[in-house]
Amino acid sequence: MGNSRSGLSRRGFIAGVGAGSLALGAGLGKSASAEGTKPMIDVGTVTTPVTDVAKLPDAYYLLNVRLETGFVEEKKAWLDAPVITHTNTELKTLRIAGGKIAEILGAKPVIPPGTAAYDAQGQLMLPTFRDMHTHLDKTFYGGPWEATLPREHGRADRIAQERELLSKLLPLAEERTAAMIRLMHSHGTTVCRSHCNVDPVSKLGNLEHLKVSFERFKDTLESKIIIFPQHGLLASNSVDLMREALKSGGVSYVGGVDPTAFDNAMEKSVDTTVQLAVDFNVGIDIHIHEPRQTAIPAFNRIMDHMEKNKQLQGNVTFSHAYSLAELSKEELKDFAARMKALGVTLASAVPLGKDAMPLRDVHEAGIKVICGTDSAMDWWDSFGNCDILQKANEIARIQYRSTEYEISRTLGYATGFVTPLNDKGEQVWPKVGDEASLNLLPASCSAEAVARLPTRNAVFHKGKLAYGSVPKVG
Ligand SMILES: [Zn+2]
Repeated sequence: MGNSRSGLSRRGFIAGVGAGSLALGAGLGKSASAEGTKPMIDVGTVTTPVTDVAKLPDAYYLLNVRLETGFVEEKKAWLDAPVITHTNTELKTLRIAGGKIAEILGAKPVIPPGTAAYDAQGQLMLPTFRDMHTHLDKTFYGGPWEATLPREHGRADRIAQERELLSKLLPLAEERTAAMIRLMHSHGTTVCRSHCNVDPVSKLGNLEHLKVSFERFKDTLESKIIIFPQHGLLASNSVDLMREALKSGGVSYVGGVDPTAFDNAMEKSVDTTVQLAVDFNVGIDIHIHEPRQTAIPAFNRIMDHMEKNKQLQGNVTFSHAYSLAELSKEELKDFAARMKALGVTLASAVPLGKDAMPLRDVHEAGIKVICGTDSAMDWWDSFGNCDILQKANEIARIQYRSTEYEISRTLGYATGFVTPLNDKGEQVWPKVGDEASLNLLPASCSAEAVARLPTRNAVFHKGKLAYGSVPKVG
């Protein structure tokens, strides 16, 4: 459907990839296997080292880019009010220079001779995706398939398994992180926030490896690190390690986990977390999976601190926060008002089923909602796949109506609410001067992209090709 509307067929696209094309990837695009076609370039397994960034000139043209320009509203005889039925698009040409969108031109501009040009072939252009809660430092991904083990003693079993695995995985850490970053790239993500274990087993080892990995991919991935005392800040006696990690630099947030369930000392655990953040002038991003009886007092204690320490305002994230799903509408409204006043962000990995989070309510209350994939196949979860667009799809299914308009709004959960059209249908992205961090995919509009999860055929970060391919013109 998207293919025909965008005038692009898979076959045509493959056929259009000639010797002059730019291609980059690790042979792991879901499209390649799902559609039975071969990857653009065969680089063997995901752990094979490949060039991390394709060489593109600093300035070039991108032709036949499909941009959304507005909604189509129609009156249907059986409906009382006009409804949005489709999204209008136009083909444009972009001039990219210095990693930014330097010009937005018509469909057939005059290209100065000798200037590099690539053909987007009518594919839809969307903003880059953002995976804002993940754990790139520890994974089975990149190695053989491993499902999670049964839990007989709750999270203690996971921690016991993690203690056994961490030292074994440490020598593989950079290779595994690279595999996950390539998987993220293949799904259109070039911005991420990653937790990183700081614990008595790996100590600062995971952090050192993650910093090396992020340096390696710095041209195609914008990243921030949260140091994460996964075994309990107090319970595993990790405060000094956390301090050492913060001293080493390159850390944006102090993490944490369940101050009551892990540390059995909510107040001391929260206060220590806050003190670390204040001492090193960084933010906080804390996992709290606890039920409302213990979670809400912990959140409120953090917010009490935020009222006193203005440097924390706008720089604290509550991750998971399943307890918000237990609140009544009225309770949620009051709690959300406090979060909003202090600039607290909510991070969610979009749990399904009974833990479904009221993300739409929280977003519509004016709170910044960010989404993450949390993992790609680790000992905590078997289902991670680093596809943040799939998270937008899941939110759309759970909390929005399946109309053109409502599905289109959910794209924002994948893009940090940078969307081609605003709620009124006005074109707000891209604008000249925006970073050239974008996806090209075979879809006719945002709603179709969210609903159908098409292949991300070319993924750009600040003008550089992070994944996929685009045929060269001429
Ligand atoms: Zn997490």
